[in-house]
Amino acid sequence: MPLTSAGMNLKPLIPSRTLQRLMLVALLCAPPLAAAWSDHALGTWQALAALPAIAGAPPVTVESLDTFLAAEDQGLQALLEQEEQWARRNVPVYPPRPDALQFKAGGPPATRRQRFVAALRINPDCQLPLFLQTRPGTQLPAGSSLPWTQVTTLRHETTARDTQYLRLHEGDRAAVLEVVASASDEPDYGMDIGLWGDNGTPEGRSYGFGTQPFGDPALEISTQAPFHMGFFHESWIIYKAAGFLRRTYPEYRIHLYRSLAAYALKTGHPYWGWRFAGWALHYVQDLTQPYHADVLPGVSTARMLGVNALDMAGLHGPKDRAIRLVSNRHLALENYQYHRMRDAYLHKNPIDALLRAARDTSADAAQAPWSDASPRQVVSQQAYDWADRTDRMLEHALPAKYISDPAYVFEQTEPAIDLFAVLQRAPQNRQDDMTQLVSALMQHFGTQSRVFMASLLKP
Ligand SMILES: [Zn+2]
Repeated sequence: MPLTSAGMNLKPLIPSRTLQRLMLVALLCAPPLAAAWSDHALGTWQALAALPAIAGAPPVTVESLDTFLAAEDQGLQALLEQEEQWARRNVPVYPPRPDALQFKAGGPPATRRQRFVAALRINPDCQLPLFLQTRPGTQLPAGSSLPWTQVTTLRHETTARDTQYLRLHEGDRAAVLEVVASASDEPDYGMDIGLWGDNGTPEGRSYGFGTQPFGDPALEISTQAPFHMGFFHESWIIYKAAGFLRRTYPEYRIHLYRSLAAYALKTGHPYWGWRFAGWALHYVQDLTQPYHADVLPGVSTARMLGVNALDMAGLHGPKDRAIRLVSNRHLALENYQYHRMRDAYLHKNPIDALLRAARDTSADAAQAPWSDASPRQVVSQQAYDWADRTDRMLEHALPAKYISDPAYVFEQTEPAIDLFAVLQRAPQNRQDDMTQLVSALMQHFGTQSRVFMASLLKP
């Protein structure tokens, strides 16, 4: 939402309580948006196949979390303390980790894992088992699969998809690309669920994150959103009216997991090095999704105010409609991306445009090396710059029913909707438009993934 001079002139007329109410209502009413890109591994396998230092790296020895923690008890105390100081200095509106949760070396081994999880402030129900995600269509040998209920804390059907997980054991060997790709989907398995003070969980009460900034605190999946979205580029008037939008924390997660990755790689624990790297990568990739970087793509500040004025006058239709449409478009984009990429894996079609786009390195050289400022100033900025365009292109390419009909609730009206299949029956020019849009976004996903991973490779 660029602040135009017209917007500036409107300012005295803007009742900030009105706007605040609009924003609050908009975000509370929006359906849960769990995962930016659906199944990050589908994109990570492609993005990093184009990074020889990862794709061609020798396999690493699998190590349990407990073995890693026991070996690095001392070093982790110092590292996590440094991380906390970094976050307090650098992450805007950072909620400090309570001192009681500080990870201390030499504590009782029986509670070491629990104390580490608490210091990271992640969901203690996560089992963090040893596993790899397998590519769609892979047949697993009998007895080697790990039930999805052990991989994720989520219990809703749709979160399980038909993804299969291969059980790993300590001492197994695993390819680096597989470890990173599998881990890049893991933060959507419940790690950031139920962490806010008003989520009704013991960890929510002790972690010190405060109340959930937006979304419905009673809806499990919406509780992770403020960690997976980054609203860094809204106009000042939006922040003034809706300060809670500043409370998004992907930068905290990225820096924490990247530092753990670098530490584990340096100290001879490559399995955990690459797994932590995959966790950090997840949040980098989430920020490449335009609907995760812009609160309401395609809706100008002036229009929000107009719609809200009508709402205040008792005409609720336009506001409900705007919220529904933005939400449907967000979900439609991810639904198309997931089904198209999954289909390409199932049909062993590596030249599919989306897969190729994720591997396309042509924009990599123009990128500055990764820095602490990259999530905000580069990754989410690029997604924000593409947000209005993405919204317009979806409007043009997809059948109106899915993205312009407020009576249609995406993935609820038709729970099994597969927009890739739907679009294959659409005119060729619409299929081409959609291919072009999502390919461009997948290229951003691939480029930013490689820039981030390159920062962890030895020169
Ligand atoms: Zn996510």
